[in-house]
Amino acid sequence: MQRRTLLKILAVGPFITRAHAAPPKTMKGIQEMQDHWKSLLAPGTEVPSPTEELNLTKEEWKKRLQGLSYSVLREEDTERAGTSPLNNEKRPGVFTCAGCGLPLFTSEMKYESGTGWPSFFTTIPGAFKTRTDYKILYPRTEYHCARCGGHHGHLFDDGPQPTGKRYCNNGAALKFIPKDGKT
Ligand SMILES: [Zn+2]
Repeated sequence: MQRRTLLKILAVGPFITRAHAAPPKTMKGIQEMQDHWKSLLAPGTEVPSPTEELNLTKEEWKKRLQGLSYSVLREEDTERAGTSPLNNEKRPGVFTCAGCGLPLFTSEMKYESGTGWPSFFTTIPGAFKTRTDYKILYPRTEYHCARCGGHHGHLFDDGPQPTGKRYCNNGAALKFIPKDGKT
């Protein structure tokens, strides 16, 4: 049995379905999910807002970020598929930018895309800005943190309904804060 198949079977249990359930059926449900994202934040956690811009020099970023986190966030590198421990993170909580701590997604917004990268069908409002990149033959929508400008991944139109969006995110660009405050 492949490991992924086993994990899927284990994930069917009733204890974790709430953190990793199917997307809401309507856009109203998506909006409610966006409106109440703070309910997934660990109590007492201080987080910045997208308008508190963080501008650091290249040297300052190098001191702040290690290895792959630096090359993904500051040089638009892409981690190898299937390498991030956050692929299998299914606990309730909030995913923040590894560069600046801005909250980006909640556990409710994550789904299993089968791509090997953490995938989300919507975001916390205002978390990202987008632009088109032409690094490969066809144009892709690149998205980056609204606060620090760090590159996170690419946005595709093959996600689950009702948004139809897939935010394909590098795990190295994310930090997960479990709702219960444990790490
Ligand atoms: Zn950031």
